[in-house]
Amino acid sequence: MMKDIIFEKLMPASASKKGGISLDSMLEVMDRELENFTQLVQPAPSSSPRTPFDQPDGSTRSPSENMTTKQMLSLLPIMGPLMLGMKKSAKFYDGTFEPTRSEADPAFIAELEKVARQAGAVSISYVKVPPTGIFKEKGIPYENAIVFTVEMDKEKMDSAPSFDAFAEVAKGYKNLAVVSNKLTRMMRKAGFAAYPGTALGGLTDYPYLAELAGLGAIGYHGLLITPENGARLRINTIYTNITNLPIPDKDENEHLWIRDFCAMCKKCIRKCPVKAIYNEPKLRPDGGRQCIDHDSCRTYFENNHGCAICLVVCPFSQVGYDKVHDRFKGNPNAPEIRILLEPQHELTT
Ligand code: SF4
Ligand code: SF4
Repeated sequence: MMKDIIFEKLMPASASKKGGISLDSMLEVMDRELENFTQLVQPAPSSSPRTPFDQPDGSTRSPSENMTTKQMLSLLPIMGPLMLGMKKSAKFYDGTFEPTRSEADPAFIAELEKVARQAGAVSISYVKVPPTGIFKEKGIPYENAIVFTVEMDKEKMDSAPSFDAFAEVAKGYKNLAVVSNKLTRMMRKAGFAAYPGTALGGLTDYPYLAELAGLGAIGYHGLLITPENGARLRINTIYTNITNLPIPDKDENEHLWIRDFCAMCKKCIRKCPVKAIYNEPKLRPDGGRQCIDHDSCRTYFENNHGCAICLVVCPFSQVGYDKVHDRFKGNPNAPEIRILLEPQHELTT
């Protein structure tokens, strides 16, 4: 069918697989760029693997199956730049860049943040990536990273699960690639090493890094919640050799009360159509916490435009962080059942 041909053309050859488009195959091709490095920061022995997009038996389903040809055509201005942006991001890993500096003055950091915001970033911070934040069998060029978020439109996301929400998520990924490539070019021009993370998710656990960077806190749905956008956001990273990034003290994350609220709310758990979100995040063998049964989520996600119901129904996405904070903190009976941040990587989707 015409729409299948359009979709196949939009995706790189590496993503095509019998039965549909494999995002895992596409990410694996990008992972192979790491072979250009003789040394990488390694994951912890207990690190978790990256959550696969494909089914456990390796099968996959093309998103085009749920779309009309008109919808497919409307995706062109988003998917084209997204694929191009991801290709450009991968090219930065060709192993040829030699940094000339490793210390940035405050004026450079301020300019970097200004450029990031102008390019579409909503929040930006810094983190020293712990080994537990690096996925099993992956590695990163440097342990310091910039973490930033971009917003997804409320009206479009409110229609989830829908084609419009799917397109908005794809647009979020495209915006991540635009911002990370722009900042990477700027940093390299100034002499610093910079390696953008893959917009779709790559070598590290982005929500975990964003929480450590103090941008927000991970809710019971496993997604980052921030004051600016609730859970209506996407996250990306840039790994860098800058040694004096203004990394916030992880013990001072002021947003961890969010999980106290989650323990009382549990709306995402009730609204998930396939009951894939655990009543309480579960302890994993590696010491981390697991929020979602991925096998239950994946099939509904694949068949329903990427679902996102849990993201949308979250009160932080609906009424906003400030209102939830004021109502919750004004309640003297509000529980404090926070899941501790240490000692291990704790929450994941
Ligand atoms: S819906 Fe409620 S329980 Fe779920 S993440 Fe949002 S605040 Fe937490
Ligand atoms: S994306 Fe949908 S199916 Fe998956 S956990 Fe969220 S609400 Fe459930």
